[in-house]
Amino acid sequence: MLENKSQERTSLEQLGEFGLIDHLTKDFTINHKSTLKGIGDDAAILDFKDKKAVVSTDLLIEGVHFDLSYMPLKHLGYKAVMVNLSDIYAMNAIATQITVSIAVSNRFPLEALEELYAGIALAAEKYKIDLIGGDTTSSTTGLLISITALGEAIDTNIVYRNGAKPNDLLVVSGDLGGAYMGLQVLEREKEVFKVNPNSQPDLEPYSYIVERQLKPEARNDIPKLFEKLGVQPTSMIDISDGLSSEILHLCKQSAVGCNLFEDKIPLDPTVIAACEEFKIDSTMVALNGGEDYELLFTIDQDEFPKIKGNPNLSVIGHMTGASEGVHLITRGDTKIKLTAQGWNSFDTKR
Ligand code: ADP
Ligand code: MG
Repeated sequence: MLENKSQERTSLEQLGEFGLIDHLTKDFTINHKSTLKGIGDDAAILDFKDKKAVVSTDLLIEGVHFDLSYMPLKHLGYKAVMVNLSDIYAMNAIATQITVSIAVSNRFPLEALEELYAGIALAAEKYKIDLIGGDTTSSTTGLLISITALGEAIDTNIVYRNGAKPNDLLVVSGDLGGAYMGLQVLEREKEVFKVNPNSQPDLEPYSYIVERQLKPEARNDIPKLFEKLGVQPTSMIDISDGLSSEILHLCKQSAVGCNLFEDKIPLDPTVIAACEEFKIDSTMVALNGGEDYELLFTIDQDEFPKIKGNPNLSVIGHMTGASEGVHLITRGDTKIKLTAQGWNSFDTKR
């Protein structure tokens, strides 16, 4: 339904590998002084001077991490970049460069890869990222995309997962559960479409959550906000697998416990409405849904006045001693042990 109906199909063999690389990458520009050499040689050369280099990589596989029947390739390119940038911002760093490696089967014409790269180009332009290289190869099955993101940070600004202390406040950016509920809507429409290919889905009421799934934005504004407010988080992680799983990561690595308050979890009204429609508990969706790409962090209580009332941030709990464990305090004031049911591509039930 969201597929590109364009009839043009230029086979990749017509261009050859080098022609293809050149065609896909020729319009990318360089924004950062740290990029001394980008695409075109055996390796890229970077110079971060007195800054620390931050590196993160992700591999996305068709049928495991994305489904092209409702994910347009342009969105996929954009999202693949976001997923990586989010990891750089989660270190409180500035993202500067990416490499993009793809493996494609002959099912994909040039026009499909142009769409993919249009999404990558849009992300690079909006987030001021230099594309500095990659690799291009063939695949016998589907599409594979691997992106490596690089960034820079002043040593003392870097935030790890292991610095949370008892009594620190647990804070999250934005709102949660939207990407998961967007996926529910898209999967439902896919089933309807299978039965009746002429059906025209009305996704308008779901536009926020469908966008959260198809076109997530990495929170590059949050490290900037920390700088502006003079806040130095004690620990941080991005929310790719669901709040529950990420809290458990922070707690384990920091050797602390946590009380998370159900009534503080930020939910958009469209998420609440979709949860009612699909008869899913919205807290479960926020805890286990994943792919929100918000930032979850802890701050010392003394820093609270600096973030108080900020519309981008919600205090959702506090850290405790490790022996107290990791719990959700429900609206009814019962204490439930948090377990990780986060999104897991090795989970055969999916
Ligand atoms: P090599 O044979 O040394 O692996 P390639 O011919 O694969 O080099 O790549 C030539 C140049 O194009 C390199 O700078 C490489 O980083 C870049 N490149 C290759 N594939 C891609 C891609 N899919 N996206 C961006 N840059 C790419
Ligand atoms: Mg190569």
